[in-house]
Amino acid sequence: MPYLACTGCGKKYPLERHLRCGDCGEPLEVRYEALTPPARIEEEPCFIARNANIFPFPDFRPELSLGEGATPLLEAVHLAEETGIAEIYLKNETVNPTWSFKDRGTSLGIQAALQFGLTRVGTVSSGNMAASLAAFAARAGLEAYVYVAGDIPEGKIAPIAIYGPRLSRGIGDYGRLYYNALALGEKRGIYFISSDNPFRVEGQKTVAYEIFDQLDYEPLDFIILPVSSGGNMAAVIKGCEEMEELGLIKKAPLVIGVQAAGCSPIARAVAEGREKVEPFPNPATIAHAIANPFPPSGNRILRKVREGRADVITVTDEEIIAAQAFLAQKEGLFVQPAGAAPVAAIRKLAAAGRLKPEHRIAAILTGSGLKDTGALAHHHLEVVSVPVDELG
Ligand SMILES: *Cc1c(COP(=O)(O)O)cnc(C)c1O
Ligand SMILES: [Zn+2]
Repeated sequence: MPYLACTGCGKKYPLERHLRCGDCGEPLEVRYEALTPPARIEEEPCFIARNANIFPFPDFRPELSLGEGATPLLEAVHLAEETGIAEIYLKNETVNPTWSFKDRGTSLGIQAALQFGLTRVGTVSSGNMAASLAAFAARAGLEAYVYVAGDIPEGKIAPIAIYGPRLSRGIGDYGRLYYNALALGEKRGIYFISSDNPFRVEGQKTVAYEIFDQLDYEPLDFIILPVSSGGNMAAVIKGCEEMEELGLIKKAPLVIGVQAAGCSPIARAVAEGREKVEPFPNPATIAHAIANPFPPSGNRILRKVREGRADVITVTDEEIIAAQAFLAQKEGLFVQPAGAAPVAAIRKLAAAGRLKPEHRIAAILTGSGLKDTGALAHHHLEVVSVPVDELG
């Protein structure tokens, strides 16, 4: 039987709705007594059915899937040319049902809520998770309670509201909103499927399995992705460790998390050799999706860095904007600023000589550019006016 275990102290819990350890406060994760590999993408198109072997429940409702996962893995032809690295792959998560990787985690989180017999689900989000949760809850017929940051732009609210959740703006500190919402959830019977909910992490680990499936289990040196709460990075590391255990790959790649310099609590703790993440003062970055100043899975990522499984670095907003333009104008992929951060990191690490021509790298493009059209103001996009009669 699968069970939950604390990622900090190892304490075991039954497979129920616990989210964090009662003893040390660290996030819980799902553990399995025995795992078997998932089906290959080409064998089984349905996300839930394909991954049933690496998910913790005996039965599922696959009809609640919205077609998440099985996203393309593209070769970054121009980025490879620019950096001199022969093999760089881009996992295009922008084509998920609500245009970000969050759909993988929400999909399994909703299945967990149904297993537990719950009718109310909730999340705290700066945007993408809110839309994802609201969409999957709508399809499953569950009530969705969504709390967004007080300062998220009007244009990002309506695309969440359209799915019909109970939507509130949390005025005040966004880092604290997460913990206070959990407390509210306990009182009101709302199951929070937030950033590092153990079942969200199980759903999101599938991106690592898919990357290797698409590479026919050929080795990778690095997987690079943006990191905010740490939930998705923990999921990718977990997926790689499981594949190592299953013998699908010989050695897990080093997972490199990328933060914006203006909000980099985990990278700072790594650089200072700390065991605990501190709240980042006055966060400021255009990459809103990675702007959590007090990441709930920060300490867990620090433990993985100490185990030699991970690293966390920063890029500046200027580097992110340049990478966003590069991806659109050279690779034909329009991603939101957070999604461009790993490409900014590859360019930076290659220029610094930390990436070598023979390295094999996959970058996860986490969310669509259309999710944050405000960022377009940072580019000099030219449109000329021509009198129609003068054409031809
Ligand atoms: C949520 C999100 C992230 C950060 O993921 P965490 O699990 O919070 O670390 C990165 N990019 C995009 C586009 C996101 O929506
Ligand atoms: Zn614990």
